[in-house]
Amino acid sequence: MRYYLDYNASAPIQKDVKDYIISTLEITGNPSSIHHTGREAKKIIEKARERIASFIKTEKNNIIFTSGATEANNFIIKNFNNIIASNIEHESISNNPNIKKVRVTSEGYVDLEHLENIIKNTNPKFSTLVSIMFANNETGIIQPLDKIIEITKKNKVLFHTDAVQAVGRIDVNFNRLGCDFLTLSSHKIGGPKGAGALVVRNKSNLQAFFSGGSQEYNLRAGTESLLAIAGFGAAANSNTLDEMQDINKLRDNFEKELIEENEDIIIIGQNSKRLPNTFMFCIPGISSNDILIALDLEGFDVSTGSACSSGKIEPSRTLMAMGLADSIVNSAVRVSLGPYNILSQAKIFAKAVKKIKKRFFEK
Ligand code: PMP
Repeated sequence: MRYYLDYNASAPIQKDVKDYIISTLEITGNPSSIHHTGREAKKIIEKARERIASFIKTEKNNIIFTSGATEANNFIIKNFNNIIASNIEHESISNNPNIKKVRVTSEGYVDLEHLENIIKNTNPKFSTLVSIMFANNETGIIQPLDKIIEITKKNKVLFHTDAVQAVGRIDVNFNRLGCDFLTLSSHKIGGPKGAGALVVRNKSNLQAFFSGGSQEYNLRAGTESLLAIAGFGAAANSNTLDEMQDINKLRDNFEKELIEENEDIIIIGQNSKRLPNTFMFCIPGISSNDILIALDLEGFDVSTGSACSSGKIEPSRTLMAMGLADSIVNSAVRVSLGPYNILSQAKIFAKAVKKIKKRFFEK
């Protein structure tokens, strides 16, 4: 029996989304062709655009499709000279050169005073973008975006948020938030891998990320990935926040069972505002690597939250940025839940952790 507890890495594709993707395989046309068969393909892309726009409550022509969130993040970053970002961003933001990094507090929130100081000390002659993720992929901690946007507006700089982990888990309303750019990823909301979007309030000053065609408002050339985009739209369309209340209760139950079975366990950021489906825990003395492998053998798919693309496990940058002790950073494990998880799994999981712990400490 396998238990999938890694929704923040990739969420499963539901049947209605799969069926819709399969039906689009019948469409031969190139969305840029002007004949009937091409227009059929174009219709699929535009339907997906509408569905995603309605999902995050904005206008359809604000959505620019990309191959995923990594591309969308690189796209927006490459458009600015001065980038100010938190020190817990995804690598697609943080690995770009010339970033001024904003500290986070021990609760995992961006230090607002530090942010404002950095903005004030940035050369106004060059274009400036502040980029702060909506919610952290490892801890699930949600940033105070309203306050952050107030600061960026007051200081007249543009604001981008990587909302990959927030959409589908909490309410994300692009128009109400008032941010300038936002990043989305299909496979985190139950769509296929290989599609994402950059949401843009005003496209007029943006430089194209790829050139060579007029697709995506002349900003991202290349024949669109029809199947992935179609599935992305279908996933957005079938996503509802209603089930998140149950998942929140389920997450609390996982934590409760873990604490009951293992009194020395630490839940990271338990008092911070977090996504309803995510938690990180650690048992000091057992490394993330060891517990991940032991849980895998027991049938659980979990993550350290920082497995890089090579699959190598590295200490979490997020937890280090929060100033947590090495013993916590080196033993943290992320659990992220979704609609397929059920209550009985909480006890089974807690008992598996207890068994692993016993084996490690009785060696
Ligand atoms: N940003 C965040 C916060 C993420 O969690 C991820 C995926 N781990 C990405 C960006 C990259 O997403 P994609 O796989 O669509 O490139």
